[in-house]
Amino acid sequence: MSNILVLVETALNGEPAASTAGLIAAASQLGTPVAVHVAMPGTGGQHAATLGHWGAEHVYVCETDQTDRLLVTPQVLALETAVRNMEPAAVLVANSSTGREAGARLALRVGGGLLTDVVGVRVDDGRIVTAHSVFGGSYDLDASAQYGLPVITVRQGAIGDRAEPANYESTTVPLEIEPANSVVITAAHETAENSTRPALRGAKKVISGGRGMGSKDGFQLVERLADTLGAAIGASRAAVDAGYVPQHHQVGQTGITVAPDLYFALGISGAIQHRAGMQTAKTIIAINKDADAPIFGIADLGIVGDVSTIVPRLIEELESQAR
Ligand code: FAD
Repeated sequence: MSNILVLVETALNGEPAASTAGLIAAASQLGTPVAVHVAMPGTGGQHAATLGHWGAEHVYVCETDQTDRLLVTPQVLALETAVRNMEPAAVLVANSSTGREAGARLALRVGGGLLTDVVGVRVDDGRIVTAHSVFGGSYDLDASAQYGLPVITVRQGAIGDRAEPANYESTTVPLEIEPANSVVITAAHETAENSTRPALRGAKKVISGGRGMGSKDGFQLVERLADTLGAAIGASRAAVDAGYVPQHHQVGQTGITVAPDLYFALGISGAIQHRAGMQTAKTIIAINKDADAPIFGIADLGIVGDVSTIVPRLIEELESQAR
């Protein structure tokens, strides 16, 4: 099978970002996943086991002491080096700010075809085909690169699958960087949310509330149900705009894309921009007092009724079962 390169994005402490697991899973649907990891000299091997556990069959470590000094350039060079040495059939990066820039610059350097904001990948008749959800989820379309190496940016959270752990092999190469034309990082701070709840991105269960929760106090029902189920909290844009919950909980076209096993939509109408961020959830449960709300069109289970009466009863029932 052909090699498929995956760019490993890292946190400030050098740990691979969890989104890499979804990229590796996507790569495993196309060929042999090769994780390309930029690391400080002597440290790259520390995370190889994690990447192998996520399904990387080869961990390609590019070591440079410029890792946390230069913005994106090390990642571009690492991918270019890996492309020259591993002759991949495609390159996958996250559709993050780093991934988009690294992907575009790589495509330019290697004469590749850039496919952006992809929500699914497959091989069709020997050709790599990417799935896109466009115009706020109004249309699904397929695309493929007509020539050159496909460089694919994958929407974060769109691929919730995980690959089987792999018996990986590992290669470490030094990366020679000419910093003259690079953007230099002068300071970086990680902002951490102080919460015991699961992070929305990548969560297996998400409880989302919309304008129908009525108020910031009413939104507490979303939080209570989330805590009962050990779920992350999501929201519609209307709930965010109304100040019920901070913006980083917004699900949808201009928020976060999620693909959990279970998604609750409480008092959410199901506007197309909201659906764009959650419609690939495996099971969708909607509670809405309007039987004609569009959310019921994609729900696996729909309950027509008032959230303020149904949700407390649901929490009570779940708590009594847990006792
Ligand atoms: P509403 O549409 O007002 O729906 C509220 C629902 O609650 C209704 O269906 C109502 O029947 C129900 N309800 C009311 N009271 C109760 C009750 N007591 N019990 C049960 N049900 C009740 N939206 C997003 O969510 N995410 C995005 O990323 C996003 N991006 C956008 C980008 C653009 C460019 C634009 C133009 C819009 C975007 N929107 C986005 C906004 C989107 O179009 C909708 O306005 C928004 O999703 C509506 O949120 P809502 O469903 O909470 O509110």
